[in-house]
Amino acid sequence: MTEKLYEKDAYQVSFEAAVLQCREKKRNQTDTEVLYEIELDRTCFYPEGGGQPADNGTLADVEVLDVQEEDGIIWHTCTKPLKEGSMAKGSIDWKRRFTHMQQHTGEHIISGIICGKYGCHNIGFHMGKEAVTIDFDKLLSEEEVKTAEHLANEKVMENVETKAWYPLDYELCELNYRSKKEIQGAVRIVEIPGADICACCGTHVKRTGEVGPLKVTGLEHYKNGVRLTLLIGWQALLDYEKKHENIRRICGLLSVKPEDCAQGVERLLKTAEDWKGQAVALRGEKLMRRVSEIAEGTPFCMMAEEGLNAVEVRRLADALMKKADMAVVLNGSDSQGYQYVIASLKEDVTAFGKEFNRALNGKGGGKNPMIQGAVSATMEEITRFFKTKERNFS
Ligand SMILES: [Zn+2]
Repeated sequence: MTEKLYEKDAYQVSFEAAVLQCREKKRNQTDTEVLYEIELDRTCFYPEGGGQPADNGTLADVEVLDVQEEDGIIWHTCTKPLKEGSMAKGSIDWKRRFTHMQQHTGEHIISGIICGKYGCHNIGFHMGKEAVTIDFDKLLSEEEVKTAEHLANEKVMENVETKAWYPLDYELCELNYRSKKEIQGAVRIVEIPGADICACCGTHVKRTGEVGPLKVTGLEHYKNGVRLTLLIGWQALLDYEKKHENIRRICGLLSVKPEDCAQGVERLLKTAEDWKGQAVALRGEKLMRRVSEIAEGTPFCMMAEEGLNAVEVRRLADALMKKADMAVVLNGSDSQGYQYVIASLKEDVTAFGKEFNRALNGKGGGKNPMIQGAVSATMEEITRFFKTKERNFS
C-alpha cells in the first residue's frame, strides 16, 4: 500500500520517497513511446479517481504523465525508468492541483446544497479542462439551480473550514453522508459545515474562501435528471475576463453601456432586418423592370440570378411567363447548383421538367403551368440542354 501524503496534507507539493518497483508500462498498438510505471513507498501525487484527474509533475526530474491506483498501490507513469531501491524527490504541478482542489471543493458545496434542498442524488461528476460537470437524478428548474448557485457562493464567502477524516466504524454508522457508490474498506469523509458531508477520496481546499467564484454555465436534460456545467475558481475568473472583454468590445462598437448591450444588439438586428427588406424590394423592382422590357410573345426566356429567396423566384417566373411562351428562372451558382422554376401558359412543363431533371441530375416537380426544383449542374450545361431542345435565347 502506498502512503497517501495528499490525504494528510493536500498543500504538500514536494516529497522524498523510496522507489519500490519500476516496470515497463504495457503498450497499446498506437503507443510509440516506452513509458515506465513506478511504485513509491509514499506519494503526494493524486491518482485519477472520484471525478478528479491525476496530478502531473516530476519524479527525480523525470516527467510524471499519469497516476493510477491499483489495489492500494499508486503507479506513477514516467517517461524514464528509476532505479529500484533509490530515493527520489517528487514535485507535483501545484497550479493544476490547486485548480482541482478548488473545483472538487466547489462541487461538494453545490452538490451538498442541491441534494439537501431538492432531495436528489449526485450520480456523476467530471472535472474537465474547460469546465466541471455534475449529474443529478432529478429534473431541476433554472430557478432552483440559480438559488443553489447563490447559496453555494454564500458558503464560499463564509470561508468555513473544511474537514477530511477516516471516522471509526461506530462514528461512521451515526453519520448521514452522501456517497456515489458502494465503498470497499475504510471510508474517508469530507465535511463542509452547513453544505455537505460526503464520502470522498479527493483533495480539497482548507477553507471554502479558497474555492473562489462558482458559476453555473449550463443546465441540460441528462438521463432522467439534469447535467450542470460549472466554472469554479480560476476557471470562472478566466471566463469572466474573456466575457468582460467581449462585452467591452461589443459595447464599444455599439456605443452602449454594458447593461444595455443586449438591447443594442436587438436594435442593430432590427435595423439590419429593415435594410434587408428594403434591399429585397429594390431588387424586386429592378427585376420587374427587366421583365417589362421583354416583348410579349417571346418564344423562350431564361433569367439567372443569385441570392433570391423562394418567393422572389416564383414572383419572377410568374411575371416572366406572361411575356414568354416558356419562362425559366434560375437562382444559384455553378458551385452551389441552381434552384429552378420552369413556367408556361402554352406548353406542358410537367413533361419538360422530367426531361430537364433527368438530363441535369435534378429533382423537383409540380403541375402546369409551373414546376420547380433544383439541379446540380453548371450554367453551361443548363444552356446546352435548352439549346438541344431548340430553345432560342432572347
Ligand atoms: Zn471530494
